[in-house]
Amino acid sequence: MQRICLFPGTFDPITIGHVNLIERALPLFDTIHVGVGINTTKKNMFSIEQRIQWINQSFLDQPSIIVSAYEGLTIDHCRKIGASFILRGLRQSADFEYEKSIADTNRTISGIDTFFLNALPEYSSIASVLVRDLLLHGGNTAPFLPKHVQHDIANQLFNEKTRA
Ligand code: ADP
Repeated sequence: MQRICLFPGTFDPITIGHVNLIERALPLFDTIHVGVGINTTKKNMFSIEQRIQWINQSFLDQPSIIVSAYEGLTIDHCRKIGASFILRGLRQSADFEYEKSIADTNRTISGIDTFFLNALPEYSSIASVLVRDLLLHGGNTAPFLPKHVQHDIANQLFNEKTRA
């Protein structure tokens, strides 16, 4: 049986914390689908296409990683792609409080189990929401982003400034 897993998230944008979690999960599964959830009620900073491109560029030499967008219930997307497992990361204990009931609910209605990996200590305070906040206020995001993402964002900001 193929061990197919879905790693769902917003990835707005992908951080080195996400990358590390996916890399550590690679030996556990045959295929990891990184699912970028489309949430119409949530206002995102980066477009879905941009977020997918950045994730793809983070794993160019990893054929077992597939990136796609999905809308609706995570378990419905699992069924569509044949995933029997969901992967989520835990940074702080608050993550666990929040994730536990979602994982329990998903298992009850679909039988799909969620696996949790603890963030490494050096990544446990890295969050896309903090990166977005830094970007909004001109802070340095380089310590938290893959190099290509930081490079693209710096270029975008430069282009915006030179256009203004
Ligand atoms: P969501 O809005 O679904 O939480 P995120 O993109 O913020 O989407 O996170 C996707 C997954 O990645 C979540 O399981 C989250 O716990 C995990 N994650 C986010 N940042 C880190 C990090 N720094 N280290 C490890 N896991 C992380």
